[in-house]
Amino acid sequence: MAEELKELRKKLFYRSNHVWDHLQADEKEALETISKDYRNFLSKAKTERECIETITSLLEKRGFKPEGQTRLYQSLHGKSLAAIVAGRKPPYYGLRLIATHIDSPRLDLKLHPLVEEFEMAFLKTHYYGGIKKYHWVAIPLALHGVVVKSDGRTVKMVIGEDPNDPVFTICDLLPHLARRVQGDKKLFEAIPGEKLNVLFGGLPLGDDPEEKNRVKLGVLKLLYDRYGIREEDFISAEIEIVPAGAAREVGLDRAFIGGYGQDDRICAFAALAAILNLEAPEYTCVALFLDKEEIGSDGNTGAKSRFLEKLYYDLLKRCGISASADNVLEMFFRTKAISGDVTAGIDPFYVEVHETQNDARLGHGVVITKYTGHRGKYEANDAHAEYVGWIRKIFDQAGVIWQAASCGKVDEGGGGTVAKYLAFRGLDIIDLGPPLLGMHSPFEICHKTDLYMTYRGYKCFFEAGE
Ligand code: MN
Ligand code: MN
Repeated sequence: MAEELKELRKKLFYRSNHVWDHLQADEKEALETISKDYRNFLSKAKTERECIETITSLLEKRGFKPEGQTRLYQSLHGKSLAAIVAGRKPPYYGLRLIATHIDSPRLDLKLHPLVEEFEMAFLKTHYYGGIKKYHWVAIPLALHGVVVKSDGRTVKMVIGEDPNDPVFTICDLLPHLARRVQGDKKLFEAIPGEKLNVLFGGLPLGDDPEEKNRVKLGVLKLLYDRYGIREEDFISAEIEIVPAGAAREVGLDRAFIGGYGQDDRICAFAALAAILNLEAPEYTCVALFLDKEEIGSDGNTGAKSRFLEKLYYDLLKRCGISASADNVLEMFFRTKAISGDVTAGIDPFYVEVHETQNDARLGHGVVITKYTGHRGKYEANDAHAEYVGWIRKIFDQAGVIWQAASCGKVDEGGGGTVAKYLAFRGLDIIDLGPPLLGMHSPFEICHKTDLYMTYRGYKCFFEAGE
């Protein structure tokens, strides 16, 4: 009887599995390889522009071209990109689409950023996306971006990543004086946005102590000598302040990867890895790398823009099918899509915000998130049961280890992704990605096995038939 009940338990109860328990030796090797490539990607591509550059060069190496026949890509303003592998069926029959985003929370420079205070130069910032401001003080920061001069030339800048580079920082107040101005405040209010000023220089230029702003003049001279830019050029610049340094393995057993920008570059990388190796799939496959998700997917490079429509029109035209409104609409309705984005892993020391039966566990594989949204599924994409069933089927057939989870307790918070903006166009879409710890912090954590299973899941989705 006891044996029978044990069998019955095994047959009827649901439990997710730790990926590590199910990997063969060759799979563990593949996991290490992809983890290493991912760390390099993360260390190199810290802005949306750098992501597109890195992705483009990897695509080109594998034979993708802007005007390619079977392997092609389309980029938009250097900030969004679609990589495409033509299927055996014409695109009219629908696409297999994975949409990820490549923008991450950060500090952008203001239009007039440079200021001198007490013989120190600072850069004023305006934060981008959902940051906890206290994360950004007292850590080494790097400066990445572009400056477009009034003559039209673009200057690229990366300062703070090479070991010989200086880094930057935002100084925090010493605890001895912080009791009232910080300690008595709520955590989210203790560091106001207007105090996120980056320490940028400290050597006065010239020998006349009566002159004002000598330090500011000194750093402007350095910028002019090195990049040919003047103070006014900051107006047409996109310079992002990000955590300095490379992504690292974390843990004595190296189980984790820590680094900035894993939301959502881990999914972007997994989708890229999946499409790079794809050969003649049944359906035309698209990996989409989008901008502006962290600020609501607005703007003409975000998921709400018509970039996707343009892609659909172009794909139809390329194969000689009329890009009429009804053909494009039909193609949207026949598309199966994944919103590749990260979700919250259960933090063992904050279980009070989690619903432990329904939230994601690190190391238990790629997460199927049927619905997102908040406060009664408001603003959610809620994938149809049939679509979730289909995903389960293809994952199980391909040996992808997955878990199904939502993000936190009911009414505790929650978040959105690009899924709802794509669902609006008529396609079937579901959220699929790895869980992270410390999401939106300067050092986010993923489990290597979840990265590996996200890659395997995306690959299997691209290769799947009906
Ligand atoms: Mn995200
Ligand atoms: Mn995010």
